[in-house]
Amino acid sequence: MNSLLNRISCADDYDPESLGVEAARRIILDLIAPVDGSAHVAVREALGRVLAEDVISPMNVPGHDNSAMDGYAVRFADLAAEGETVLRLAGTTFAGRAFDGGIGPGECVRIMTGGVIPAGADTVVIQETVQAENDRVAVPPRQRLGQNIRRAGEDLRAGTPAIRAGKLLRPAELGLIASLGLGEVMVRRRLRVAFFSTGDELCSIGTPLKDGEVYDSNRYTLHGMLARLGCEIVDLGVVRDDPAAIEAAFREAATRADAIITSGGVSVGEADFIRGLMAKLGEVAFWKIAMRPGRPMAFGRIGSDADAAWLFGLPGNPVAVMVTFYAFVRDALLKLSGVAPVAPLPRFRVPCVTPLKKRPGRSEFQRGVLFHENGEWKVRATASQGSGVLRSMSEANCLIVVEPERGNVEPGEAVDVQPFEGLV
Ligand code: AMP
Ligand code: MG
Repeated sequence: MNSLLNRISCADDYDPESLGVEAARRIILDLIAPVDGSAHVAVREALGRVLAEDVISPMNVPGHDNSAMDGYAVRFADLAAEGETVLRLAGTTFAGRAFDGGIGPGECVRIMTGGVIPAGADTVVIQETVQAENDRVAVPPRQRLGQNIRRAGEDLRAGTPAIRAGKLLRPAELGLIASLGLGEVMVRRRLRVAFFSTGDELCSIGTPLKDGEVYDSNRYTLHGMLARLGCEIVDLGVVRDDPAAIEAAFREAATRADAIITSGGVSVGEADFIRGLMAKLGEVAFWKIAMRPGRPMAFGRIGSDADAAWLFGLPGNPVAVMVTFYAFVRDALLKLSGVAPVAPLPRFRVPCVTPLKKRPGRSEFQRGVLFHENGEWKVRATASQGSGVLRSMSEANCLIVVEPERGNVEPGEAVDVQPFEGLV
């Protein structure tokens, strides 16, 4: 009734024979939901994990009213409206070492940045503007009540969320958690992702190549991309283009993992039995994405009930694997991992100095090198753009993303780039 395939076919703009990149990304994100399971971990172990519940601040941050500057803590009421006021220096307060006792009328206290404001003081005058000699401090007029003071709870009030559930924890969050005095946080369990490569021409490293064979590289790029995302990895190796072997691999993957990534076997002209098998083992949609590289792709669910897993059937070409991974799979895996909200990878527009060959009607993801010249960021395409040429990915530091409606790009035209740096 309300099967997965029905829900997929109800999506706006749904045309499995020519599906836009954004439409495919949306369909996938709309259908999947985060997996269950969470655990407490120590702060350092939380790097790269997804926060399972809000971190509530147990205290005010900062904990006390404190000085934002090096200077003198004064009572505003003591200051003359016109002309300078001479105050008596009653003591010094350092960060971490408070001045005991408050200040009385006509008194001030030397205070360092971060020092707790002594009782009675309500204003800090910066040291550069006063004349200090022995215990006499002359303060110029026109100070403002409350200036240069950071208020207790100004950054965070006790009892309010410091970090929301769904946040992928980065170094800043580890520091923030520690700053609240918390030693542990609740994170979601790591997503388990299984993958295997299909193809009779594939050879695993460590075995000599026979005629017509190529080494399987996709399992290594996938390993790297999944490790960067913080996934638990189940590598099921190379599987022959043999129905029984592939069925067994799918069944094992669905039992052991939350998501399965395959490479190869989804293109037109590939052995049809793989598609047939995917359809037999679950509900899988086969798409032709309006993109290059990465046209054929399968998405769906394999297995049943507790042993089911999401399937991403990627094309076999090594570059297409990486491009489709970042275009669809990354965001989907982040959502399954509990990241909320999932933000698309950032893009920005720069002039392209090389011509790009491009046919209107599909998105293109070309390998580019972002560089800085004459005070401006620019991009050039890498020498080779073949979708089997991993070296082009290795030379590149970004993808040049050309919109579907555009044709050839002439040198000097602006294009969107998506930097690789910062991919989790
Ligand atoms: P396919 O999508 O299976 O037709 O594969 C397209 C191209 O990618 C072919 O040239 C394959 O040999 C190559 N290819 C497929 N899988 C892999 C892999 N795991 N490692 C390296 N190359 C591959
Ligand atoms: Mg193949």
